[in-house]
Amino acid sequence: MTVIKNIYCVGRNYALHAQELNNAVPDAPMFFFKPTHAVVWTDGKTVTLPGHQGSVHYEAEWVIHIGSDFTPGAAADDLIDSMALGIDFTLRDVQSVLKKKGYPWLAAKGFLHSAVLTPFTDFPGIKACTKADFSLEINGHERQRGNIGQMIFDPQALIDYCGTHYGLGAGDIIFTGTPAGVGQVADGDQFDLKWGDVSLGAFRAALEK
Ligand code: ZN
Repeated sequence: MTVIKNIYCVGRNYALHAQELNNAVPDAPMFFFKPTHAVVWTDGKTVTLPGHQGSVHYEAEWVIHIGSDFTPGAAADDLIDSMALGIDFTLRDVQSVLKKKGYPWLAAKGFLHSAVLTPFTDFPGIKACTKADFSLEINGHERQRGNIGQMIFDPQALIDYCGTHYGLGAGDIIFTGTPAGVGQVADGDQFDLKWGDVSLGAFRAALEK
């Protein structure tokens, strides 16, 4: 099983997604954290989510796993040792209140099972990764599609910023932001995360009342 240390996430890294939530595009990468306890793997089991705190939104994201410690000038292609797809589940109504109050996002982004991950797979290099789209299907219908070439801050920029300001080492992962098309989870929704035409992981969501 892949060892996971810090879970960094990036907000507003695709212009169309920033627009759909009426957020300004940031001039530096906007990082936030999830506890490692938030992780749940897509192994076919049901993922339970809090259904009693307003809307739960899905955000499908490309996730990179760091294989060695960051040093200034290190190439992203060398530091990343594997990749996965994930869902950054978000309590959107809770987040709106936190944003208004200027509070941290933990309650909206860091709850149990809020970081769903497919198994990590071979990383062929950033350039090769731009040749395929990633997508999210829910109940057999495509809801999100993105390409890492559309990121506002590319993987090198994310790694440089994160490594310089917060530190980045072997075992850390980064949720690199979600493309447009986020929306609300319904109880029983069947999720399928795809890289190109290949499913990397699927699961069912249950909203706990
Ligand atoms: Zn996200």
